[in-house]
Amino acid sequence: MGVLENLEPKKVWTIFEQICQVPHPSKKEGKIIEFLMNFAAENGLQAKKDELGNILMIGEATPGYENLPTVVLQAHMDMVCEKNNDTVHDFDNDPIVPWIDGDWVKATGTTLGADDGMGVAAALAILTDKSVAHGPIEALFTVDEETGLTGAYGLKPGFFTGKKLLNLDSEDEDIIFIGCAGGMDTVITYPYQTEPVAAGQFAVNVTVRGLQGGHSGGEIDKGRSNALKVLAAFLWDCAKEYGAKIATIQGGNLRNAIPREAEAVIVFDAKYKEDVRVAVNCYSAECARVAAMTDPGVKVDIESVEVPAESMTAKCTIDLINALLACPHGVQSMSAKMPGLVESSTNLASIKTLEGNKVYIQTSQRSAIDSQKKLIARSVGAAFEIIGAEVQHGDGYPGWDPNPDSELLKAVVESFKKVYNGKEPEVTAIHAGLECGLFLEKYPGMDMISTGPTLAGVHSPDEKCYIPSVERWYNFLKEVLVNIK
Ligand SMILES: [Zn+2]
Repeated sequence: MGVLENLEPKKVWTIFEQICQVPHPSKKEGKIIEFLMNFAAENGLQAKKDELGNILMIGEATPGYENLPTVVLQAHMDMVCEKNNDTVHDFDNDPIVPWIDGDWVKATGTTLGADDGMGVAAALAILTDKSVAHGPIEALFTVDEETGLTGAYGLKPGFFTGKKLLNLDSEDEDIIFIGCAGGMDTVITYPYQTEPVAAGQFAVNVTVRGLQGGHSGGEIDKGRSNALKVLAAFLWDCAKEYGAKIATIQGGNLRNAIPREAEAVIVFDAKYKEDVRVAVNCYSAECARVAAMTDPGVKVDIESVEVPAESMTAKCTIDLINALLACPHGVQSMSAKMPGLVESSTNLASIKTLEGNKVYIQTSQRSAIDSQKKLIARSVGAAFEIIGAEVQHGDGYPGWDPNPDSELLKAVVESFKKVYNGKEPEVTAIHAGLECGLFLEKYPGMDMISTGPTLAGVHSPDEKCYIPSVERWYNFLKEVLVNIK
């Protein structure tokens, strides 16, 4: 007896509860692959698997609907594994334990995996629900979306044949996504010259704390301060006014997070001790004033530390600071097609001092347009190449440029209005990566949209699925399947 078996639509919830029983962490999809292949066999569905574990199931057209175009229903089979500190749970072996809390289905101290178990469940339900009319269906289940999009990345051309794809991996029943950003990394290694610290020097650790940070895609347009920029601006003053030199510098952490903290040990003539103290207080107050709306907690401070034996030379110090100030960060362009959507951005993500007198800097670029992403990556690289740093660009992943005139979108919007009593869906794009961008690379000209039931708290133990949205969303998918021309 499943706890979700009385929820509607029964078929979707029953399959979802079965998926909860099967451990399916990213990069450990063996058990869910077995479940899916068994599901296909038991239901007489043709299925195949590629070397990565991506699965394609074929659903034959309902009699009378053979002339409709093939539709690809796509979902990822892996889930993010997060749990509360006080929860004992082995994601490799233990089932997810769902329960009903009012209008929501939640898990017990862990992520629920409705991202994207709901997409998988809906596709499997459609394939086996005799009451659903549809043309030919290809259901594509990808591996490892959450930790690198490697399933979509490694998908071979020709694995499926449909030219219209419904990605079932978004999180709000009222929103239809029609585009996403591509991304790439640019990393910099700066080899610097050192010199011994002279007698009579003083050393402080300059700290930048209390910034908001956030996701370098979804939150890059919030105008939040970047800790590395805040630090670099103060170091510039110290270098120019007091001849300060950098001994070590570090800040930021993940390449897809706006840096919240940064610090640098600097040395300068002890006679400037008080001047630097006054300067930091003024600067900290000014930062708080400027960022009162976006980063009210910002604080720049110094504390005296032991004088190091060596520092960067004055020239390397000023070169590095200049490069950090010159390096672009934040929104680079807005979409002309979709008002309010960020088209291109870059994140100056982290810096650290390595052994052997090197500084390592991570940055990442995003754009819906590939050439723009590369151009911004080159601008980031240029800021550092001119000081003699080595710049490396990653391969990255492509974006999905929105097509507001898509045929599929028209059918989707019409179907939505029918099921939602005339209400218009919000049609938008996302300034972050989706698997759709990667499909486009192997399957050019693919007409796609992304949709999903309403979820909240995704990627955290608070993940939950809004029960009433699932039935409406399933009805909407059924409507789309007969309206696609
Ligand atoms: Zn997902």
